[in-house]
Amino acid sequence: MKTIGLIGGMSWESTVSYYQLINETIKGKLGGFHSAKILLYSVDFAEIEHYQASGDWDKSAQVLSEIAVKLEQAGADFIVICTNTMHKVAPQIQETISIPILHIAQATAHALLENGIKKVGLLGTKYTMTQDFYKEKLLDSGLEVVIPDQAGVEEVNRIIYDELCLGQIKESSKESYLDIIDDLKNAGAEAVILGCTEIGLLVKQEDTDVPLFDTTDIHAKRAAEVAVGE
Ligand code: GLU
Repeated sequence: MKTIGLIGGMSWESTVSYYQLINETIKGKLGGFHSAKILLYSVDFAEIEHYQASGDWDKSAQVLSEIAVKLEQAGADFIVICTNTMHKVAPQIQETISIPILHIAQATAHALLENGIKKVGLLGTKYTMTQDFYKEKLLDSGLEVVIPDQAGVEEVNRIIYDELCLGQIKESSKESYLDIIDDLKNAGAEAVILGCTEIGLLVKQEDTDVPLFDTTDIHAKRAAEVAVGE
């Protein structure tokens, strides 16, 4: 079994989900006492969020690259960055290591295409929704992408940073997300990507008829598959 190098803590609320999902998937595949070989480096998210908010992506790339190098030196066979947003600096991180990064948007695009989806709504941080680094992976796979209107982008982003990354799950915020998911459906989306690793803590598939693709779930399960050589 390969050793998974997790860069987590962004936020730790969703890294908990990764740890559980990866181990559950390995157990489901191998049975018995089998569990995942994981090296986890969990950051202080206050530091990373500060670099995001001040636009200092190079500094965050440097911090995460140093961590990736440590994980490679410690024996990781591949890297999983447990956040969609920080894939903005995945290319810089990849340059500093010789093991691969399992890209969250590529894994998600693969899952969408497997399910016959052509046009998809994207929810995530304002960086993920409005910048190119994430959407281009989806577009390159042949998918069409729709995002919320300006007010929707701000609301989705606010709930992520003011609530979900702080462990706050509010019914009123779930209703806001479900309204925005309906708007994306009305704009032609056949499915919606939960493109922030904390959104699955708030909105579940049973809350809506719109097919949801939870990036935490997809990424963690794919990591387990890669670990066992699939
Ligand atoms: N975990 C979130 C994501 O998947 C947001 C936190 C962050 O900025 O990394 O994008």
